[in-house]
This record gives sequence, structure tokens and C-alpha cells, in this order.
Amino acid sequence: MEHTQRLQLSVAPVAIERVETFLVDLPTIRPHQLSMATMNGQTLMLVRLYCSDGTVGVGEGTTIGGLAYGAESPEGMKLAIDTYFAPLLVGADASHVPAIMAKLDKAIRDNRFAKCAVETALFDALGQRTGLPVSQLLGGRVRESLPVAWTLASGDTAKDIDEAECMLAQRRHNIFKLKIGRRAVADDVAHVAAIKKALGDRAAVRVDVNMAWSELQAQHGLAALADAGCELAEQPVATAEALARLKGRYPIAIMADESLTGPASAFALARVAGADVFAVKIEQSGGLRAAQQVAAIADAAGIALYGGTMLEGAVGTVASAHVFATFRDLQWGTELFGPLLLTEEILAQPLQYQDFQLAVPTAPGLGIALDEDRVQFFRRDKKRSAAVAAH
Ligand SMILES: [Mg+2]
Repeated sequence: MEHTQRLQLSVAPVAIERVETFLVDLPTIRPHQLSMATMNGQTLMLVRLYCSDGTVGVGEGTTIGGLAYGAESPEGMKLAIDTYFAPLLVGADASHVPAIMAKLDKAIRDNRFAKCAVETALFDALGQRTGLPVSQLLGGRVRESLPVAWTLASGDTAKDIDEAECMLAQRRHNIFKLKIGRRAVADDVAHVAAIKKALGDRAAVRVDVNMAWSELQAQHGLAALADAGCELAEQPVATAEALARLKGRYPIAIMADESLTGPASAFALARVAGADVFAVKIEQSGGLRAAQQVAAIADAAGIALYGGTMLEGAVGTVASAHVFATFRDLQWGTELFGPLLLTEEILAQPLQYQDFQLAVPTAPGLGIALDEDRVQFFRRDKKRSAAVAAH
């Protein structure tokens, strides 16, 4: 009797039968200016894992500005998964997510974004199989919705203020992150100060320098930003050592982003007390569980948490939301606005953004369904064959 019960509780083996990858090109609502690139569109690499029990898990790999941000691109991820990941995945037991990821880690160095996409698809399928949302598979959520910051990056002060006022009126965002670092420090500071002055206490204003400043520029910039009422500066300089030297010198929080490339880098940063806040990103971390490990290191070191984005579309954004929902503390909220930067919806039911928060889906797996017609329409390979047919 006891033996029978144990058998019922165990998960029967489910094989991964097929791996599908494709690219989806979506336009952005406006040019998105960062210190390293200006984005006019976003490319999603979507991976689908077809399992022997009929479940199909979906995952996403996305970058910021092609290869401008890091070593992986959507096109490169597709090639890597098709060529090197797929042979290791096909036939493996889909329910044993950590075992599959360990196998991939052993055979494939780095490729954190591609691994994150695959791990997302595995958890999505496992959630559908077990009837549990991904956040529950990851230990359980502690919140049902997440605060979401909006990035003002039009490059124009008056336009940015109008955009912020519009977001406040809609009750969609009351935390604003300004992308700076392209112009002279004094010009950037004037831009931030004007926006903070216009918004006053109605909104929080933060900046992301994306490593564009030298340490000396950062000393001037951080002092002036603190005076202007800016509460946080994200990755003002490139190295962990320079971040550590700047942290605590000015009344403005220092957040690490680009310096965080997974648990080992998080540990190294924590050891030199290199940041007040960690921007945790699932792709940068190398997966959903790796992102939780980064958060655990931050917790242990007394470093606060923020849920970051690689400007993922809906799939990567929801995967991130499930992870961030499990963080015990999320002191600085999130920036999971990626889908809102795109003009096109690819989900059957759009994500819910309201009252300055994103609702974390409650259905099994990621809790979302792709709108297949929309996805097919924006697939790069379909567009190309349509263009060929027209000639
Ligand atoms: Mg950043």
C-alpha cells in the first residue's frame, strides 16, 4: 500500500522529443536610447521544447541592441541551441530540470542567455505537467504582483517629462529610470534634475549610466545627482572595484548591473561590498535558479534587490516575474516593462499592468499562451520566405 502511494507520487519519465527555435522581430514604440546603442526594435529568440506527454514549454532569449550589451545575440543563441544544446536535450527526462541544466553546464561553457531560455522552457513544461505556476516550482511566491519602473530614454527632456506625466496619470508607473551617459556629465545631470523637479515627490527618479563614466566623472556626477534628488545610480562605472570605491561616498544608492554575470560575480561583488543594490536578471544570471542564487548572496551580504530586465518580451518578462515573486525582499521593485516597449502583443491574453504593478500569472507553468497567428506573422524566417515569394 505504502509502496503504491510512493509510485503515484513519483513523476514518470517524460522525454524531450523535439527542440524548436525561431526569431521574432518586433518594433519598439519609440527609439530607446542607451549609452551603448539606440534600439528601434527588439528581436526575441523563442525556444519550444516538445515533450512526450504532450506538454510544450516555451522560453525566450533576448539581448539589448544585438551584440552591443554582451557576447550573445538572438541569432547566436538560435544557432547555439540548434547545433549544441538540442542533441543534449532530445531524449533527456524533461522533468529533471537541475539535472538537464547541469548536463548543459558541463558540455557548454557560458552561453548564459541561451541556457536561461532553455531552463525557462523546461520549467514552463514542468509547471503544465504538475499544474503548478513556475514561481511555486521555484519554492513559492511571496507576492502576487511586482512594482514596475519605466525607463525614460527618448533623449529629450521635455518629451521624457510628458511621458512620465502620462504614466503617472494612467497609474502605470511612478518609478522612472533615466538612461544617461551619452552626453557630458553636466548635461546629463541637468536633464535628470529637470525631470525630478517637474515630477517632485510624485515619483522616484533613478539613473542608469551603463558603465559610461570614468571614476572621476562618477565622483562629479554622483554628487550632483544626489543633490538633484536622484535616489539611485545603476552601474555608473565598469568595474566592481570602482563601484566599491564609490559606494557610500554620496547619499545615493549604487546598483550593480553589468558587473553581475551570475552567482560567482555576485559573490565577488559582495566580498568587496561593491554595491548597495543588485539588479538581478535571469538571463545575465544564466537561468531562473541561478538568479535565485544571486539573490541569496545579496540577502546574505545585506545587499538590497531589484528585478532587472534585458528588455525581454512577454515570455522572458513573465519568467523573470515568477523568479522575482519568490524573493523574500525586493526593496527596489522591478523594471519588467519590456513588453510595454513593443508595439505588438504576442500573447493571447496580455500581461496585466495596473496600479503601478505587474500581476504575476497564476496558471500552471509560466501561465501565458502565445497568440500563434501573431507569432507566425512576426517570425523572421516567415517574413523572408514571404518576401521571396513576392518577387
Ligand atoms: Mg542597467
